[in-house]
Amino acid sequence: MSGTEKTLTPKLVKKLWLAFIALILLMGVSYMLITSYFSKKHYQETTQRLNAEVANHVIDEKFKDASPFLADGSVNKPLFGDLMHDMMAVNRGIEVYLLNANGEILYSVVLDHSDNAPAKSVSLAPINTFIAQKGEKYVLGDDPRNPGEQKIFSAAPYDVDGRKGYVYIILASKNFQQVSDTLWGQYFAKLGIGATLLTTLFSVILGLLAIWFLTKNLRLITTTVRKFQEGDLGARIENPDRSDIAIFANSFNEMADTIVDNMDKLQSVDILRRELIANVSHDLRTPLAILKGYIETLQMKRDSLTENEKQEYLQITHDNVDKLSGLINQLFEYSKLEAEQVTPVKEPFSITELSHDLIAKFKVLAARKEITLALDKPEENSMVFADVSLVERALQNLIENAIKYTEPKGKVTLALHQKGKNIEINITDTGTGIPVNEQPFIFDRYKQVSKSTKKQGYGLGLAIVKKIMDLHDTTITVLSKPKEGSSFTFYLPAYQV
Ligand code: ADP
Repeated sequence: MSGTEKTLTPKLVKKLWLAFIALILLMGVSYMLITSYFSKKHYQETTQRLNAEVANHVIDEKFKDASPFLADGSVNKPLFGDLMHDMMAVNRGIEVYLLNANGEILYSVVLDHSDNAPAKSVSLAPINTFIAQKGEKYVLGDDPRNPGEQKIFSAAPYDVDGRKGYVYIILASKNFQQVSDTLWGQYFAKLGIGATLLTTLFSVILGLLAIWFLTKNLRLITTTVRKFQEGDLGARIENPDRSDIAIFANSFNEMADTIVDNMDKLQSVDILRRELIANVSHDLRTPLAILKGYIETLQMKRDSLTENEKQEYLQITHDNVDKLSGLINQLFEYSKLEAEQVTPVKEPFSITELSHDLIAKFKVLAARKEITLALDKPEENSMVFADVSLVERALQNLIENAIKYTEPKGKVTLALHQKGKNIEINITDTGTGIPVNEQPFIFDRYKQVSKSTKKQGYGLGLAIVKKIMDLHDTTITVLSKPKEGSSFTFYLPAYQV
């Protein structure tokens, strides 16, 4: 494992860990807050439900023998003193209030004597709701000892000697609250510590497992990338679509394929370049050697050679110079086309006229080989929109080849046909033909079917034709049968006059 990988994964793992711990803490706090809220509520609701009848009991038990009011209309304090005594024996956390019909406090029995000034009245709305629902509904009422706070309560209406009001009992007084809070604090602390320890333990185990699984694919990808970087060009991520980061895995595989493809292409271009240089230097060397030989002979044997011999030697040197300049011209032309230095200048021109000119130009060469060179339907005039000199060059190469690869007494025909919006240009010969397996490659640079046939050119002619077709956004096709002949076809856009 190298340095990059060592730092990459732990960094990510660290971040994942931090995120995980933050999540656990957040969950823990939320859990405790929610638990605290609901368990308090649950406790209060249970207590209120259990003690819902307390106020009714007070009325039934205490008010049946003695009235809560004395004859002078004042509150029967001894009765309430007695009541408080009873209540305290059972529950020190409750407070009893006697309310009139308007909710004003007439008397209170309270154990807790806090500094707070008690309220003079309480809201009747929760009391009425409580009574209407028969204590079945959880409802909070005003705490007279702590104005502004809400407490669980029990309440019941009384009607004694024509005086109406309510007995209002706070079930969780301040006193109760203090005890409850202390206990709750202890429970909460225990619960908190216990829950935190347990969750931490589980989260460590789960976290380790989760991070291991989460980073499993990443580790696999890193290993593969590293292998590829170290030169294993076949290294690919297996089943990339099953990876959690499929898009990344697929991108890496595609990138690796592209790199390997490009390397292959570069390699084949390099091989072709080397072949080209080898071929060119060979092709240059042969005529140069011939030239050198004849020139040396002419120099050395100047006096002993007859006039005819001198003439013949000079003709040979002349032919070889022609050959050399032909090759150099073709190479120059091809390299210019390949380097995309040629921009076609398209214009309308008569392809019929151009064909006539070319036939006239090649007539002598064809006649020398007793080959009939003709234009099919010479009377029709076809106009095209293309680069005239490039098209001329292409046609020249095709006619030259047709003559070159046709035996004496053969025939070469140039035909032009309107095909929709295009002119079809066709050069057909009755020559040697091209083997089917060689046909796809004849347009490649330096490809010659010269193993079987006699080598007569440099293999650049058709490569130049193909480049010219590319510049005109068209293609050239060949139909050929060995020993029967070949037919080359391409299309150019027709120009309507
Ligand atoms: P060359 O300079 O060798 O003719 P080209 O690129 O013009 O190179 O042609 C490539 C090869 O295609 C030739 O070597 C030849 O074998 C074959 N070829 C091209 N035109 C014809 C044709 N009309 N008939 C038969 N073979 C042909």
